[in-house]
Amino acid sequence: MRGSPMVTLLLVLLSATPGAAQPAPPATLIEAARLIDPRTGTALSPAAVLIEDGKIKRVGAPARVREEAPAALQVVDLASATLLPGLIDAHTHLLLDVIVPQEAQVKRTFNGEFEPGLLLAVAAMSPSARVLLGAQLAREDLESGFTTVRNVGHSGIDGDVALRDAINAGRVPGPRVASGRKIIAPGDYIEGLNPAVAESIAAQEFLYIDSADSARRAVRSNAFYGVDLVKIALGDNISLAEMSALVEEAHREQLKVAVHAVSAMSIQMAIDAGADSIEHGNEATDEQLRLMRTKGIFFDLTPTFYDGTFWARVHAATVVSADFNAELLARDARGRQRGAALVQRVLKSGVKFAAGSDMCWYLPGKTRGEATATMFAALHTAGMPPLDILRAVTTSAAEMLGWQDRVGAVEAGKLADLVAVAGDPLTDISELERVRFVMKGGQVIRNDFAAQ
Ligand SMILES: [Zn+2]
Repeated sequence: MRGSPMVTLLLVLLSATPGAAQPAPPATLIEAARLIDPRTGTALSPAAVLIEDGKIKRVGAPARVREEAPAALQVVDLASATLLPGLIDAHTHLLLDVIVPQEAQVKRTFNGEFEPGLLLAVAAMSPSARVLLGAQLAREDLESGFTTVRNVGHSGIDGDVALRDAINAGRVPGPRVASGRKIIAPGDYIEGLNPAVAESIAAQEFLYIDSADSARRAVRSNAFYGVDLVKIALGDNISLAEMSALVEEAHREQLKVAVHAVSAMSIQMAIDAGADSIEHGNEATDEQLRLMRTKGIFFDLTPTFYDGTFWARVHAATVVSADFNAELLARDARGRQRGAALVQRVLKSGVKFAAGSDMCWYLPGKTRGEATATMFAALHTAGMPPLDILRAVTTSAAEMLGWQDRVGAVEAGKLADLVAVAGDPLTDISELERVRFVMKGGQVIRNDFAAQ
C-alpha cells in the first residue's frame, strides 16, 4: 500500500482492532428544512440536530443549536430534506427469507407456503449460514431506514441474539435488534413433516410448552440466551394456566411478552394472562380492543398482507396456473378487505398500536429493507392516516419495546437514530419507501443527498 505517512496512519487507525466497536464519531450537526415530531405531527422548520457521542445533544432552530456546538464539528447539510426519527419495524424475522415453493409442491405437501421455506431454513441451512443471511437482511433493513427492529423468532436456537451482539459490537452493520426465541405448543407449524424427523428439526427452531412448568422453563431458557423479549405463538392448544405461568415468569425476568394471536379465543387468553402485546390480532372483537385499551396492551398490526398485492408479489418468481393465480388474487382481495376493516376498528378503539412488517418472505427484486417498507403503503391502503403510520413505527413502537427512553423520537438524550426523506411523508407516505439519509448512533449509514 502506498501513500503519505498521514494517510497510512489514518488507514491503520481505521482498520485497527477489527471486531471492536466503531469509534464514536465526532460531534455532528445535521441541518434540514424540516424535522417532524411524530407525537404532534408538527414540523420544526428549519431544523438542526446536534449529536455528540452517538446521542442527541440538542434540537432546535439552526442558529440556536450552532451556538452550543463545539468548534470541531462535522456538518451534514440535508438542505430541503425532511428529518424523522429512525424507523422501527416492530415485527420481523431477520433469519428467515422464505422463497415460496412451486404450486405443485404446495399442493403435494399440504403444508402451505410458509412451512416448506421454514423447514428448508432449519434443516438445509447450517446455523452459521442462517446467521450470515440474517446479517445481510439486517444490513438491508438498516439501509432502508430501519434503525431498530423487533425480531420475534424464527432464528434457530440463538442466531438472533448472536446477530444482535455482532451488530452491537460493530462487527456487522444492522439495526438495533430486540429478539426472543419463539415458544409454541406441539403440533404447530410442522404438521406436514415426517414424524420420524419432526421433533429433532423443530427443536432447532422452537421451544415447546405443554404444561405450566415447561412454560416457565421456556422463559428461563430464553433468558439464559439473553433475549430482549419473550415471544409465544398462541393457538387454541395452550391453556390459560400455561399462558399465565409464562407471563408471570417473563415479567419476573423483566421481559415483555409478545403474543402471536389470530383467533378471538387466543386473543382473549393473551389479554387474560396479561400479555404486553398482541401480534397480528386478526379476529380481535371490539370488546377485546376495549379491554386491551383499558389494560394498556399494545396491538401490533402486521399490515404487509393488507394491501391486496402481497401474494401476487411473493409468487412473482414462481410459475402458477391460471386457477392458482385466480386463487392468489382472491386471497389478496380478502386480505385488503380484512386489513381495512381491522385498521378502522383499531383506530376507532383508541387501543395503543404499533406496526411490524412480519417480513420473512423473499420478494423478487427487492432488498429486505425495501420489502419491509411495503408495509407503509399497505397501512395507507387500509385507511390509516400518514401521521398514525409514522407514530406506529417510531414513538409507539419504541414504547411497545420499552425502549422509549432510547429510540423513537428526535429529542435530547436519545440515541442519534435519524432518517431523512426528500418530500413530506405526512402528505405522501410513500416517501418512507425512499429513505435517502440514515444515521444510527451518530454514524452516517447512508446519505444520498450528499451525492447530488
Ligand atoms: Zn411473525
